[in-house]
Amino acid sequence: MNLEYTPAQHAFRAEIRAWLAEHVPREPLLSFDTEQGFAQHRAWERTLHSGCWSMVTWPRELGGRGCDLIEWLIFEEEYWRADAPMRVNQNGIFLLGPTLMDFGTEAQKARFLPAMAAGEHVWAQAWSEPNAGSDMAAIRASAIRQGDEYILNGQKIWSTRAVWADWLFGLFRSDPQSVRHHGLSFLMVPLSTPGITVRPIRQLNGHTGFAEIFFDDVRVPVDNRLAGEGLGWQVAMATAGFERGLMLRSPARFQRTAEALRDLYLAHRADADSDPSLRDRVCSAWMDAQAYACPPTPRRAVCKKAAISVRSRVPTRCSGRSSICACITSRWRFSARARRLCRARQDNMRRSVTGSTASCFPRLDRSMRAPTRSSAISSPNGCWVCRAHKACTKAV
Ligand SMILES: Cc1cc2nc3c(=O)[nH]c(=O)nc-3n(C[C@H](O)[C@H](O)[C@H](O)COP(=O)(O)OP(=O)(O)OC[C@H]3O[C@@H](n4cnc5c(N)ncnc54)[C@H](O)[C@@H]3O)c2cc1C
Repeated sequence: MNLEYTPAQHAFRAEIRAWLAEHVPREPLLSFDTEQGFAQHRAWERTLHSGCWSMVTWPRELGGRGCDLIEWLIFEEEYWRADAPMRVNQNGIFLLGPTLMDFGTEAQKARFLPAMAAGEHVWAQAWSEPNAGSDMAAIRASAIRQGDEYILNGQKIWSTRAVWADWLFGLFRSDPQSVRHHGLSFLMVPLSTPGITVRPIRQLNGHTGFAEIFFDDVRVPVDNRLAGEGLGWQVAMATAGFERGLMLRSPARFQRTAEALRDLYLAHRADADSDPSLRDRVCSAWMDAQAYACPPTPRRAVCKKAAISVRSRVPTRCSGRSSICACITSRWRFSARARRLCRARQDNMRRSVTGSTASCFPRLDRSMRAPTRSSAISSPNGCWVCRAHKACTKAV
């Protein structure tokens, strides 16, 4: 087996490297959780699209380049090597985009995907509600059908960057008699629709990266529903699968940061070695990032679990020398209590990720896994969700 890159792959790498060298902003952009930073990142999305680099794996007619997996990995390596900005439209391009490709009609794909790739429509996720957080099947926001429209009422919360986004996607209860994960529909809604109020949530750092969204008799065309009425849960699980997948957390992203960490350690070795544990921590972070880049498991949840584990040691993004320095010189000295809290939060994330999918795989047969387009809509085994969650006995 020849594991070398082909001449075409080398040429592809040279092309993206040259383009990035010319276009990546010289100064790091502001946080995309601020109004100004959001605008800067949106402008960057447009620049990427102008070079046809915004979604390299998508077909050309949808705004992509039709790249294969190896080319995508090369693109990612170069992207992070160039310290290019984070992707402000990640909810759209990495989560809704692939969901649309699996579940959308041709008309929906043509309507939404090119605008997403171009950075014209930036998307927010609207799952969580005040009483439906970890327990998403408790969703109460309603979508009652009237002719060719749904009338939306209720509230969503924790919607990332919804303050500045253009569209949202989320789950709404379209069957008022339904319970749990039945009777939900997956809708795409412009945030400018009359009846929608977006209220920013100010965080401790002063940023307003999250929002509450209130729906007051909001009218949405039935054409904005993805897949059949009442099949929203299956679609949402596919979206969640993409969120746990490789696209959102490419290995190169962590490798880049780990390398920066290693270089900084080497540059400050004399100082850093006064605390011998530092060298071990830097090595460990570097090895984690390399291990994460090894051929990935097909289990998406395991991929996210690995990413969380790496992230607990390697900052996702070191935009400046100071943040790496902080790691190296150990100025980030957590109190014992803060460390315990951090660890508890990571464990919670791991539990919820593995609990929701990975841990149940060995006990289930193929028909019970997250649905493909056909199995979600007409599974001969009834509701895969019910079978995975034994409390429910109803079939879709
Ligand atoms: C960075 C970030 C970005 C987010 N972005 C979005 C977004 O864009 N859109 C969106 O819709 N949501 C978003 N969320 C919300 C997120 O997806 C969850 O819905 C939310 O964090 C969990 O809900 P909650 O805060 O109400 O906590 P709760 O669900 O009330 O949980 C509180 C605590 O109770 C624990 N717990 C809950 N149920 C059980 C149980 N049965 N047994 C034992 N323990 C339990 C949890 O582990 C947790 O520690 C985001 C969250 C974060 C952290």
